[in-house]
Amino acid sequence: MEIIRIPRIMQDISKDFLLRGKTIGFVPTMGALHDGHLSLVKRSREENLITVVSIFVNPAQFGQNEDYNIYPRDLEGDTEKLIKENVDILFLPDAASMYPEGYLTYINVENLSEKLCGAFRPGHFRGVTTIVAKLFNIVKPTRAYFGQKDFQQSVIVSKMAGDLNIDIDIVVCPTIREKDGLAMSSRNSYLDNAQRQAATIIYKCLKETCESIKSGIIEIKNVKNFMLDFLSKEPLISEIDYAGIYDTSSLEELSTAKENMILAIALRIGKTRLIDNMLINIKEER
Ligand code: AMP
Repeated sequence: MEIIRIPRIMQDISKDFLLRGKTIGFVPTMGALHDGHLSLVKRSREENLITVVSIFVNPAQFGQNEDYNIYPRDLEGDTEKLIKENVDILFLPDAASMYPEGYLTYINVENLSEKLCGAFRPGHFRGVTTIVAKLFNIVKPTRAYFGQKDFQQSVIVSKMAGDLNIDIDIVVCPTIREKDGLAMSSRNSYLDNAQRQAATIIYKCLKETCESIKSGIIEIKNVKNFMLDFLSKEPLISEIDYAGIYDTSSLEELSTAKENMILAIALRIGKTRLIDNMLINIKEER
């Protein structure tokens, strides 16, 4: 595996791959890699001749009071994992090369970026779409891989690619979970034992709500209250940003059933913000 740190060099290497007819699969990450990240890498390896993974903790997507400075970093462990997965290139830029002095250009997908997590993390998705667009221009992938775990992110990135005629297939891969259902996340390492145990309520709530909708026990208009009631059983939850059922494309909260809906939760346990979601396809299930 080659490690490339300079954007211009990465660009030249990608140009050369494309000239030689190679397909490039790309997995953008912020590192502290776990099996969720590696599932994207495996998928990219299956579908492309070359796989590029980036690790960049993007300052532009963190709010002032968020965890940029303490975000988990494990370059050595990450490198080992990526070598084992036969990744071709690890792109490892630094903040100064991505946002040099005088940097002025940002991309914002309107409306969708203000919903759900966007309402609680102002500017977050503007930072995400900006870095993803920059990475796309540097790595020039044929396909780019994102996790359903960050569902809103995948919707926004797909919308950006469509709106800006970016010729890249956006592939969304299923959420990888711990044995007890907790979605894998680099931020899970912030949790102490009691908090880690408490965090299992998120997946339990999604599953129970999904089953109750499928079996007709709850109506769509009552889903939010059902979820809030369920989550209120866990005293270690310090704050619930949102819980409810949403349209998978507009991200609007729903009061009546649609074909493709998503249950989504964002909450805090102590200071740690956790998110998770579950797709519900009524056609499949009735
Ligand atoms: P991050 O390093 O958190 O920015 O995540 C990089 C990519 O990995 C994003 O596309 C995430 O959605 C994806 N990802 C993170 N956690 C998981 C997971 N548990 N299962 C599948 N994909 C994930």
